[in-house]
Amino acid sequence: MELEEFRSGLDQWLDEHTADLSPDHGPDLDAEMAHLGKVKRLGYDAGWMRWGWSERVGGLGGSPLLRGYLGEALTSRGFVEPGLYSMTEVLAPTMIDYASPDLAAEMVPLLLRGDETWCQGFSEPGTGSNLAGLTCEAEPVDTPDGPHWRVNGQKVWTSLAQYAQRCVLLVRTGTVESAHRGISALFVDMDTPGIAVRPIETMHGQPEFSEVFFDDVLVPAGRMLGEIGQGWAVAMDLLPFERSTALWHRGAFLHRRLDDLVAQASSSLDRRDLGRVIVDLFALRSRSRSTLHRLDRGERLGPETSVDKILLATCEQQVFDLAAGVLAADVALDDDPVSERWRTDYLYSRAATIYGGSAEIQRNIVARRLLDLGADR
Ligand SMILES: Cc1cc2nc3c(=O)[nH]c(=O)nc-3n(C[C@H](O)[C@H](O)[C@H](O)COP(=O)(O)OP(=O)(O)OC[C@H]3O[C@@H](n4cnc5c(N)ncnc54)[C@H](O)[C@@H]3O)c2cc1C
Repeated sequence: MELEEFRSGLDQWLDEHTADLSPDHGPDLDAEMAHLGKVKRLGYDAGWMRWGWSERVGGLGGSPLLRGYLGEALTSRGFVEPGLYSMTEVLAPTMIDYASPDLAAEMVPLLLRGDETWCQGFSEPGTGSNLAGLTCEAEPVDTPDGPHWRVNGQKVWTSLAQYAQRCVLLVRTGTVESAHRGISALFVDMDTPGIAVRPIETMHGQPEFSEVFFDDVLVPAGRMLGEIGQGWAVAMDLLPFERSTALWHRGAFLHRRLDDLVAQASSSLDRRDLGRVIVDLFALRSRSRSTLHRLDRGERLGPETSVDKILLATCEQQVFDLAAGVLAADVALDDDPVSERWRTDYLYSRAATIYGGSAEIQRNIVARRLLDLGADR
């Protein structure tokens, strides 16, 4: 299906199903996750969630631009929260590229349809920016049920782990000295004995991420993504997805929230401040658009997507700084749903320079890998 045909068909379907797709709850994570599952199920059963994905994982084929537009339409109409929705965009491509074809064909439709939630177990208490130093380890063991990996260690900041049925987990299968080459990726069932999930409440009051503990957790050998020692490649291929389609959706959300602000407080807005935010939002949109088109052409995305992440984090904080400046008293003090939403979004925007790789690390990548400005001393 071509993009224009997809857009008009989808827009019509969304218009007709607005009542079913609109959330009817406040900022409550359990309710948001339940609603997200409903939106994905309705979208999948009507075919929309399947376009842009390969037929071999239950998709209907077509360009990734179709997925870009679907997420844009859902977030800009306020039907889904972009961070929760876009986990699919981050994790499904990894499964398609690295899982065995049978495993990908079995699992990816469950994620697309919202029957399952998956999480990404990369960061550890001592390992975020320096991911190559991770210590959660997996050793090969023979069991009566065949060869397995035995996993021990801890992850932290694992988004949605308490809702997840599966986890894309980075583990150390080689020595720390072997750094990148000693890392492998496993696809782990979260109900395996030995896994404990402890949610952490964020600054905006939602337990959106968790600590996850692994204590002698047995993972079948067939659940390795890629080869032994290929975990670094899995991570490096996954992160650009976090900074392409997913950022396009988040950009659409920021445009909507800026429109909301103009509608709510037009007369109080300084036109120059507003203009600056609009210009930066359009820079983000235009950069993100060209990244999506590169994805569409089958180009391999890499470190240049750090530019997209820097622009996104800058815009996200600018939009909500502007809102907090204009609506200061409401954002700080009022408990009505509209003020509460601004407060939640403002507080969450502080995380934009941390999640998916911190702003400093993105700038290091731009300096060293794109501009060749030298290495760490
Ligand atoms: C909302 C949210 C959701 C998240 N979800 C997930 C998830 O689902 N899965 C997951 O695995 N992780 C997740 N994370 C974790 C995130 O990836 C890490 O927080 C991030 O990579 C930074 O790592 P860190 O917290 O260990 O900070 P550190 O790496 O300790 O960094 C601390 C500070 O030092 C700076 N710094 C570190 N090294 C350098 C350097 N070499 N040069 C310059 N500055 C440096 C950083 O920029 C930062 O300001 C999430 C985080 C947030 C906020």
